[in-house]
Amino acid sequence: MSYDYVILTGAGISAESGIKTFRDADGLWEGHRIEDVATPEAFEANPDLVYDFYNKRRSQLLSDEIKPNAAHMALAELEKGCSDKILIVTQNVDNLHERAGSKNIIHMHGELQSAWCKSCDSREVWTESLDLLTECPRCQKRGVMRPDIVWFGEMPYRMDEIDQAIKKCKTFVSIGTSGNVYPAAGFVRDARISGAHTVELNLDESQQSGAFVDARLGKASELVPSWVTEVLSGI
Ligand code: NAD
Repeated sequence: MSYDYVILTGAGISAESGIKTFRDADGLWEGHRIEDVATPEAFEANPDLVYDFYNKRRSQLLSDEIKPNAAHMALAELEKGCSDKILIVTQNVDNLHERAGSKNIIHMHGELQSAWCKSCDSREVWTESLDLLTECPRCQKRGVMRPDIVWFGEMPYRMDEIDQAIKKCKTFVSIGTSGNVYPAAGFVRDARISGAHTVELNLDESQQSGAFVDARLGKASELVPSWVTEVLSGI
């Protein structure tokens, strides 16, 4: 499958929906050191803390205050306007692209509303809390269900598909990502090598800004709708 546009999104696209980005100025994620909540070693050492961290993030998605913002909505409009030519590759584990109406989405770092059984390797849609007593609905074992999140040191999902899409796309766009986390941070270079036009829409300069041909600074809720209008009107 080839797409005209591959759109990489990060925590910044969901910031105006009330979901905190990854690293605050103090270097913490929701008050935690990343290595304490986002590595397989952390889960092994302190599963209760890691379950609790992701249970809170998962339950936040059910709150009335968390809704897709104008940037998510604009990307869904773009997909409607360009049918199957758009692929969203998101590093986000929230469900705001789906809630805005986007369909072609790869969650390369997993999803909060999914649980993974380490014993029978099944995945289930999950909106409740998880803990060591949770029973796998398929194999009925306990102590084997984990958040379906790709932690540091683990392989992101569907990388072959993503690599192919980036190699074949005409335009690669990056929205709301700091460009710190690999392999996503390297996508812009792969896209350029393959001849794609490259656009970055971000609040601040990212680690990768210099690699984009067109880098625009501002809020996603403003930059994304205006870029989508340009694309749909053929500018
Ligand atoms: P990051 O926190 O490292 O960077 C966020 C970037 O977004 C920054 O460059 C910042 O300048 C920019 N930004 C902040 N507010 C913005 C706005 N209103 N408009 C446009 N840009 C804005 O995030 P990242 O690069 O996505 O880090 C990756 C990791 O964070 C991923 O592994 C992801 O799983 C995890 N994460 C996901 C969520 C989520 O699902 N919403 C939230 C926090 C962390």
